[in-house]
Amino acid sequence: MLIDLHTHSSVSDGTETPAELMATARAAGLDVVALTDHDTTAGWAAADAARPPGLTVVPGMELSCRWFPSDAPPISVHLLAYLFDPLDPGFVAERARLRDERLGRAERIVAALAADGHPVVWEEIVAGCAGGVVGRPHVARALVDAGVVASVDDAFATLLHHRSPYYVTKADTDAREGIALIRAAGGVPVFAHGLATNRGRTVGDEAIAAMAEAGLLGLEVDHPDHTPDQSAQLRGLAADLGLISTGSSDYHGTNKQTAIAVCTTEPAEFEALLAAGTGSAPYRD
Ligand code: AMP
Ligand code: FE
Ligand code: FE
Ligand code: ZN
Repeated sequence: MLIDLHTHSSVSDGTETPAELMATARAAGLDVVALTDHDTTAGWAAADAARPPGLTVVPGMELSCRWFPSDAPPISVHLLAYLFDPLDPGFVAERARLRDERLGRAERIVAALAADGHPVVWEEIVAGCAGGVVGRPHVARALVDAGVVASVDDAFATLLHHRSPYYVTKADTDAREGIALIRAAGGVPVFAHGLATNRGRTVGDEAIAAMAEAGLLGLEVDHPDHTPDQSAQLRGLAADLGLISTGSSDYHGTNKQTAIAVCTTEPAEFEALLAAGTGSAPYRD
């Protein structure tokens, strides 16, 4: 059983349509794939419609949140949400707010870049953003196409870096509220790439324990951005706290170097996740 529980399609910031992503998953030999676009469920129906026989598709999403330490600035925390009710009104409203927030924030980033002479055009970026969930990868693509940077990675390392003068923050969901929203919609919240220090400041063990107290149900232990030590630390925490352990690729098509299925989830952990999700069902034979 090959199980990858974290992928992105062109509905958010991946480069493959949900249908193309299903074909990629199959070609990679996956038995189970979760579609976890940022802030939207818009790809679920297309993934279901394109699902090859034998492939199980877990409907999911990735929610960008903030953890507020008592003695330090907020820390970015990504929550994966699985098997939640896509029509739950509270969660629907928060997703709409986040997509709106993304639009305003990306437009400000692009306006500042353009004002300094970088040839990026907001209307073109929005028009090329099929699912309506705009992110820095879309701006990065435009910068590559305009010849400003050589690659999406270069754009993230320079102009779009969170310490770049062009960077604009977005008002992400409070992590405790995110966990509560996901649980209220019958979903399974899993802390994504929790110790990936290459992404910025990370939370400590006490914060992860507090999240578990608040209803967190799993930790993404194996992820391309984790070192072996970071994965081992998360595996230990999951065991201590009684949380589900997952492993996933965070595939984004050609927007990232990562191949699909480079990290995978153990079948028993997947079964525990299935048992915990009550808001929607996986698409399967
Ligand atoms: P945003 O949500 O707009 O702040 O942009 C962050 C998104 O960009 C996340 O989905 C990341 O997975 C993605 N990302 C971060 N670093 C890189 C990178 N070096 N290359 C491509 N995508 C990246
Ligand atoms: Fe992304
Ligand atoms: Fe993430
Ligand atoms: Zn992701």
